[in-house]
Amino acid sequence: MRMAIVGAGWAGLAAAVRATEAGHDVTVFEAAGMPGGRARSDDASDGATDNGQHILLGGYACTLGLMRNVGVDVERALLRVPLRVTYADGAGFALAPTGPRLLAAARALLGARGFGVVDKLSAIAMARDWRRRGFRCPPSMTVADLLHRAPTELVRRRLVEPLCVAALNTPMAEASAGVFLAVMRDSLFGARDASDLLLPQRPLAQLLPLPAVDWLRAHGATVHLRRRVTGLAPDDGRWRLACATGADDLRKPEPPFDQVILATPATDAARLTQALAPGWSAAAGALAHEPIVTITLMAPRRPWPAPMLALDADDGDAPAQFAFRLGDQPAGADRVTLVVSAAGRWLERGSDAVAVAAVAQYRRAFGIAPGETIALASVRTDKRATYRCTAGVVRPAMDILPGLRAAGDWVAGPYPATLEAAVMAGEAAARASAGERRLS
Ligand SMILES: Cc1cc2nc3c(=O)[nH]c(=O)nc-3n(C[C@H](O)[C@H](O)[C@H](O)COP(=O)(O)OP(=O)(O)OC[C@H]3O[C@@H](n4cnc5c(N)ncnc54)[C@H](O)[C@@H]3O)c2cc1C
Repeated sequence: MRMAIVGAGWAGLAAAVRATEAGHDVTVFEAAGMPGGRARSDDASDGATDNGQHILLGGYACTLGLMRNVGVDVERALLRVPLRVTYADGAGFALAPTGPRLLAAARALLGARGFGVVDKLSAIAMARDWRRRGFRCPPSMTVADLLHRAPTELVRRRLVEPLCVAALNTPMAEASAGVFLAVMRDSLFGARDASDLLLPQRPLAQLLPLPAVDWLRAHGATVHLRRRVTGLAPDDGRWRLACATGADDLRKPEPPFDQVILATPATDAARLTQALAPGWSAAAGALAHEPIVTITLMAPRRPWPAPMLALDADDGDAPAQFAFRLGDQPAGADRVTLVVSAAGRWLERGSDAVAVAAVAQYRRAFGIAPGETIALASVRTDKRATYRCTAGVVRPAMDILPGLRAAGDWVAGPYPATLEAAVMAGEAAARASAGERRLS
């Protein structure tokens, strides 16, 4: 069966690898010069810059399995650390890597530093409430609604809000409580190592995109980079693709495909399907998106209790939720990445204003005097980093028309927009496409 996969982000690559493994004749079309989509690097080198700091979780079973399948040494490529939310002042909690998860979570909350007895008891009551609900709630409920009775202000601000914004890239007041609870169930309260943080030790391109492309080509698949699909038309029970053409495309038009998987962002999938499936296209086009700003700076050296630290964020003058100090460090300085998730409300002030506020926030958190220099290395803004995972959001289904499916972190599923959601969607689309052929 001839299968076309449009887009070589993590969803498209997952679909392509699984379809190739199943013996299909796979062609991947990617508009950009580098594979990886939103989790890509600028180039293939060891010193490449990524499109924003990414972290993986121990519970990303599909992603880790796929990385291993294409030959990535996961243990060396990712630094595994038990989950901890630590602030620069030492406050926070750390989850013990052993023992039953609920007990480990209760111990972590009881042992949390910088929280009073009332805070700790309220956090434990909150976790019990989530468990009592079976980690489920009505679709219209926000994370703020979910918390309305239980935890203290400190627990909301320093524990729940950072977890919510990191996982859903959506502020607590709007974020879907159902999706948040699904993440908590499967990570914090899931299998023993599911909540471990996996911090990339290499550029993102080397974690999956480049090894997957090499693997695909070695296993007989075709991967076209710099080839944007511009149109899609049915052709006698198959699908014909039109591409933004280079000279050789004109000489060799692609024969039609039995199955097509659109593994593009939602807006591109909406455009490509507008005339074919107007209802589905409208649902994909209606998804709202939320930006992430990633700021890299060089700061005077300070003690770092962990490679990833939480920062006190607020809407006034503190935009960043997390700071990372990873990899080899320059002499006498810290190379730090600050992440501003759910950055929409901040970007209304302009990305320069966000960077200035984040640097000032970093000074305050680490006690860096005005006379000490902090040099800004880069500010990257991804305006459509993820879909807004709001309460009640309706995500488009995987199936569009016979032989035509969608895969991506935005397609209907239990999780927010993450690498794992993208890989799961890609694998599901490949499975369904293969199954449809067998039935016909
Ligand atoms: C700054 C930032 C930080 C993030 N942090 C994390 C994190 O810490 N942990 C985590 O799990 N997730 C994180 N995410 C989310 C994660 O990156 C995404 O969920 C994931 O990469 C989405 O993959 P995808 O394959 O669904 O889509 P995409 O990555 O968007 O891939 C779609 C691909 O389709 C291509 N394309 C589009 N139109 C066409 C066309 N017409 N023809 C051919 N090709 C086309 C695009 O070029 C792209 O390569 C972050 C995202 C951003 C932006």
